[in-house]
Amino acid sequence: MKSQSYQEKIIQTAKMIKELKPASVLTGAGISVESGVPPFRGQDGIWEKFDPVEYAHINVFRRNPHKVWNILLREIKNTLDKACPNTAHKALAEMESSGFIKTIITQNIDGLHQAAGSKDVIEFHGNFATLHCVKCKMPYMMKEISIKKIPPLCACGGILRPDCVFFGEMIPPESLYRSRQIASKTRLMIVIGTSATVQPAASIPLIAKKNGAKIIDINPQRTIITETVSDIFINGMAGTVMADLLKAIAR
Ligand code: NAD
Ligand code: ZN
Repeated sequence: MKSQSYQEKIIQTAKMIKELKPASVLTGAGISVESGVPPFRGQDGIWEKFDPVEYAHINVFRRNPHKVWNILLREIKNTLDKACPNTAHKALAEMESSGFIKTIITQNIDGLHQAAGSKDVIEFHGNFATLHCVKCKMPYMMKEISIKKIPPLCACGGILRPDCVFFGEMIPPESLYRSRQIASKTRLMIVIGTSATVQPAASIPLIAKKNGAKIIDINPQRTIITETVSDIFINGMAGTVMADLLKAIAR
């Protein structure tokens, strides 16, 4: 079969979205790259000097919270304090309000889908906007705490940690349950900016595929699911592709 051009793929995907709506969406770090938030891996990943998996592991945090706050969490806070939703986040919010998509399952902790106006968002890996004390569980807001002194402490003296899922921790059971339910029922899943390597999030498109859904894969680089699991691979940056898709749907 002749391979399709970029424009042909956009037109075919827009047609599928109209026919099979509402689509479900799985996003990864790549969707926030155009908001200035670097991914862990892949091109432009900032963590070249060290292994993020080491610093993002719960055992490392428990053993040495100072090190994890000093290197990983400080960097994430400084980046996310400045980040705003980009064209791709905004396009998804618009597609939700016009009924073309329903739920976004995101692996991201940056809150940018909600900031763009998306309502139905499953934060598979929790979020970075809130924290709690590991000793007394008192909740805090990330934007209200100071990191001049590391690690930040609760009024009780306990160490604060963000409400995101560290490597080695469980996915919140209700997020996992609902994501699997959606994957088993959806007729169309749009996967944006994920290398599909972090489990169990990576299994979500596989569940959808097994249950007969069509899978669209949007990424500037090929991934493990490209054309093995996905029916259409749209090679491009999330912002550009989502803007083009939105225009094609409106036609
Ligand atoms: P990942 O495994 O999701 O990989 C990033 C993917 O994004 C790669 O496949 C890359 O080719 C693609 N990409 C790069 N630029 C893109 C663009 N402009 N448009 C579309 N796709 C693009 O992410 P990771 O970096 O390995 O992170 C692992 C885990 O950490 C995941 O859970 C991830 O969500 C989380 N994380 C979250 C954030 C965030 O909240 N923004 C940032 C870094 C890591
Ligand atoms: Zn406390």
